[in-house]
Amino acid sequence: VQYALDDAGTRIEATKGTEAFCPCCQGLVLAKCGVIKVHHWAHKAGIDCDSWYEPETEWHRNWKLHFEPHQVEVPIGSHRADIRTDRNLVIELQNSPISPGQIQERERFYKNMVWIVNAQDFADRFFLMKRMGGDLISFKWKQMKPSWRFARRPVFLDFGKMTIRDLLGVKHVRARVAYDANLVSESFASLSVERYGPRNGAYLDPSLATLNQDILQSGMLRINTIYESGHGSAKAVNHSQLKKQFGIAEAT
Ligand SMILES: [Zn+2]
Repeated sequence: VQYALDDAGTRIEATKGTEAFCPCCQGLVLAKCGVIKVHHWAHKAGIDCDSWYEPETEWHRNWKLHFEPHQVEVPIGSHRADIRTDRNLVIELQNSPISPGQIQERERFYKNMVWIVNAQDFADRFFLMKRMGGDLISFKWKQMKPSWRFARRPVFLDFGKMTIRDLLGVKHVRARVAYDANLVSESFASLSVERYGPRNGAYLDPSLATLNQDILQSGMLRINTIYESGHGSAKAVNHSQLKKQFGIAEAT
């Protein structure tokens, strides 16, 4: 966790060699100030009091820095919301894989919440294919983790430094002649092969050329629909829209 309480009950960040108290369980937490991981507090007991805990990464930290300290790591019942805005919207930052059951459990618990998913690990398997109505863009997510199909609250994919422009994909459908050992008389069968990419091919769907600069430069998508096949649709979100929606004050 980023914040713990000192003796006076003030939220403080970890500094080398110090101790403080967990805002949730009041247990003792120790400062972890190594070189590789972001500075954080860890429970002295060795186990985090929140069963939904996931290890803090730089990605988590960067998101939390957009918010005021009192909006970050807010104890709610026996859990700790990553962020809770002043409008009582919980923002869960999800970096590691999560099961459909866990998604549903958290949505039932927090109710008014959205997900921000670190999409940087699968950005190379995520292709935007076609502009549909308005600003809706269809996508193909190869080897998608099926969990996010079960989310009923808004899911935002954060592609980090990559922009919508970087995610534009090309779909090729080709007829291929392939040898089929099961066919005795005709030993060849025709197959249709679908390929996605390359990113900067000359055969982008013409509808994608109509996306304006604002959209092409944004780095996040809000999922609209998502299917088992990994196909779906999403809307590009830029920073100012997101800030407005989340009630983030204009800062950095
Ligand atoms: Zn605790």
